[in-house]
Amino acid sequence: MLREKNAVVTGSTSGIGLGIAEALARAGANIVLNGLGDLKHIETQRVRLEKNHGVEVTYSPANMLDPEQIAEMIDAAAEAHGSVDILVNNAGIQHVAPIEEFPLEKWDAIIAINLSAAFHAMKAAIPGMKERRFGRVINIASAHALVASPFKAAYVAAKHGVAGLTKTVALEVAEHGITVNAIAPGYVLTPLVEAQIPDTAKARGISEAEVKRDVLLAAQPTKQFVTVEQLGAMAVFLCGDAAASITGTILPVDGGWTAQ
Ligand code: NAD
Repeated sequence: MLREKNAVVTGSTSGIGLGIAEALARAGANIVLNGLGDLKHIETQRVRLEKNHGVEVTYSPANMLDPEQIAEMIDAAAEAHGSVDILVNNAGIQHVAPIEEFPLEKWDAIIAINLSAAFHAMKAAIPGMKERRFGRVINIASAHALVASPFKAAYVAAKHGVAGLTKTVALEVAEHGITVNAIAPGYVLTPLVEAQIPDTAKARGISEAEVKRDVLLAAQPTKQFVTVEQLGAMAVFLCGDAAASITGTILPVDGGWTAQ
C-alpha cells in the first residue's frame, strides 16, 4: 500500500514511534528511524525492520532540541531515499510537577521536543511535499491535547499547541495533496510507562495490577491500554488514499477518555 513512499518517524527508537515505524514498513514504506538510545539496540531494530519488511531503513541521530539538526535530518532523508512523503512527529518527553516547582529547563525541553520540533520538521518537509503534490503529516499528540491533568503544565500546553499547529498547517496545505492530522492516544503501555508502575505501587502501597487499573486507567473507560499496534494501524490508514479527505483533525485513540 505504501510502496515507494518514504517516511521519517521522529522518536522511533522505542515505544509508539517504533510501533508506527514498523507498521509503515510492513505497509511497504522506506523508513528513517530517529531517536536517542543505545546505538547497538538501534542498529538491531534498523536491520530487523529492513529484513522483515524488505524496505530501506536508515537512522538519523538528530536531537529534536536542535532546529538545525531537525532540518538536516529531513534533507538527509530526502537525499537517502529520494523524498519525504510521510512525516510522523512523535518524539516526546514528560515531566510531572506542581506549577510552582516546575523546573524551567524541563518546561523549555518539553516545549522544544513535544511542540517546536514538529514545527521545524514540517517547515523543512512541506516544500518537497508541495513539489510532488503528495504528503502525509501525522503529529502524535495525546488525550492531553484535548483535556488536562494536574502537574503536567508543560506537557498539556505542548500537546494543546500541537493540536493548534496541526489545524493551522492543514489549512495552509490543503490544496496541495497534503494532509496534516494529529493522533491523540490515551495511555499506552510503552517501556516509559511500564517503568513507573513498580515505584507507584510501592509509593501508594497497592499492587501493580491496582496501579494499572486505579491510577493509570482511571480515566480510560475501556480499562484497557491503547496498543502501539492500534496506533500503527491508524497511522497507516491516514497515509492511504482512503484518508485523503481527512485533514486538520485531532483523532482520539483513547478508550473513551475524552468522551467523558
Ligand atoms: P518513549 O519514551 O518510549 O519514546 C520516546 C521517543 O522519543 C524515544 O525514541 C526517544 O529516544 C525519543 N526522544 C526523546 N527525546 C528526544 C530528543 N531530544 N531527540 C530525539 N528523540 C528524542 O515514549 P512513548 O510513550 O512511545 O511516547 C511517544 C509519543 O507518544 C510522545 O510524543 C508522547 O507524548 C506520546 N504519547 C504517549 C502516551 C503513552 O501513554 N505512552 C500517551 C499519549 C501520547
